[in-house]
Amino acid sequence: MISATFPYAKQTRSILGQTMAYVDVGVGDPIVFLHGNPTFSYIWRNILPHVQQLGRCIAPDLIGMGESQKLPDSGPTSYTFLEHRRYLDALLEALGVREQVTFVVHDWGSALGFDWSYRHPQAVKGIAYKALEQTNDGVTVCFEGGATRQFDLVIGADGMHSTVRRLAFGPESQFIRYMEHYFAFANADPALGENRSGNHAGAKAYFAFRQREPLTYDYRDVEQQKRLLNEAFAGMPWRVPELLDSALADPDFYFDALSQVRMPSWSSGRIALVAGAGAMLALIGAYRLAGKLGATGGDHQVAFRRYEEGDREMVERTQSQLFIGLLVPKSHTGIWARNTLAQLPLSPTPRTVTPVSVRRRV
Ligand SMILES: Cc1cc2nc3c(=O)[nH]c(=O)nc-3n(C[C@H](O)[C@H](O)[C@H](O)COP(=O)(O)OP(=O)(O)OC[C@H]3O[C@@H](n4cnc5c(N)ncnc54)[C@H](O)[C@@H]3O)c2cc1C
Repeated sequence: MISATFPYAKQTRSILGQTMAYVDVGVGDPIVFLHGNPTFSYIWRNILPHVQQLGRCIAPDLIGMGESQKLPDSGPTSYTFLEHRRYLDALLEALGVREQVTFVVHDWGSALGFDWSYRHPQAVKGIAYKALEQTNDGVTVCFEGGATRQFDLVIGADGMHSTVRRLAFGPESQFIRYMEHYFAFANADPALGENRSGNHAGAKAYFAFRQREPLTYDYRDVEQQKRLLNEAFAGMPWRVPELLDSALADPDFYFDALSQVRMPSWSSGRIALVAGAGAMLALIGAYRLAGKLGATGGDHQVAFRRYEEGDREMVERTQSQLFIGLLVPKSHTGIWARNTLAQLPLSPTPRTVTPVSVRRRV
């Protein structure tokens, strides 16, 4: 529940001859909340109560803002970044903020937090920053490279682990439906033959295995993914060892859980998502959304609504039709059926195909 009440009494310190005010609650590693410009620690009032049990939460009023003292004789050359930095550095030093520091940063405070982290890399445990912010007029986007830009609309098309989705709608765990399989895709020794469907040059190795409970791993950590694949297929007969070797050596190695994203809504304010249960739906979604925006003269509220009303039924139907059982059969009979089907000609002039006939221990 958002509240206007500020539930904290601020403390003060004399910093470089001026009084600086700050909230200091909780115990443990420091978590420093840096507000933007022009505002003050008030913006953290609805966040601090939820995190103050996680560490020592410090939310300063930057110099000249909130209850911190105004700079004397301020003019066009004061309140510069360097001046703010000087006061913030001295305040954090006075408060003993030296190690295991987590920054939670917003707007102008982001520049200060990132800059402090850059100068004290060993002292930083983490940085939390909100990189998408909506107003009535547009969306402010803070890119990974540090640049900040304002856009009328943001369309997220960044895939299964979408950053846009996370920032606009919340953690992906709320929306991802795990489908009890993992799969990996990699280049294989070209001598094994050409890809049968003809859409890849050279041979590809495709691995899939059933896994009832999701595995715990960092999906950005490719070495960890390779270890998981190796554990799943190590010691198997046939040509699995050589396929595995080439997959593990491949820099383009791909590994992920088989999952579907199911969203209660495909847009939030000026931010919408396009993606698909399959490449085709991703492209159709993007095309249709562009069409709706064009047809409504850029009225994003109407366009986003029509886009979702028009496509949701098709996407949900497609998602419900996913049938993985034939691809990763449970029984030897199923494997035989799959391999027999896989060897049926797909085109009038079928090319060489490497059959896969392995059953993973489950
Ligand atoms: C091995 C494999 C085989 C598949 N086979 C088929 C198939 O045969 N038929 C089918 O219909 N579908 C298939 N799919 C699914 C299909 O590829 C996806 O459904 C489709 O690509 C989804 O499109 P998308 O645009 O949502 O995401 P993606 O295609 O994943 O595109 C997202 C893009 O965003 C970029 N990106 C991510 N984060 C950021 C960031 N922070 N900043 C900037 N850019 C970012 C990524 O680099 C990527 O280029 C397959 C998928 C895989 C993995």
